[in-house]
Amino acid sequence: MKSLKCSDLGASDCTFEATGESDEEIIQKMFAHAAEVHKDKLAGMTDEQKKVMMDKMGELLSKQE
Ligand SMILES: [Zn+2]
Repeated sequence: MKSLKCSDLGASDCTFEATGESDEEIIQKMFAHAAEVHKDKLAGMTDEQKKVMMDKMGELLSKQE
C-alpha cells in the first residue's frame, strides 16, 4: 500500500493522509480532500503550481512500493 501525506505537499498544519493501492487512487483521494478542506488554497493556485504539486505527488509515490 502507498500513502501520501498532506503535510508532504506543503500543508504543514494538516494531518490528512491518503492511502491506496495505486497512484491514481491516492492522487484522486488527495484532490478530493484538497477540494473539500483546502478549497481556498486550491482556487488560488495557478495551473503551473498544480503541475508542480502533481509532479511532487508522482515523485513521492514512485519511491514507495
Ligand atoms: Zn490537507
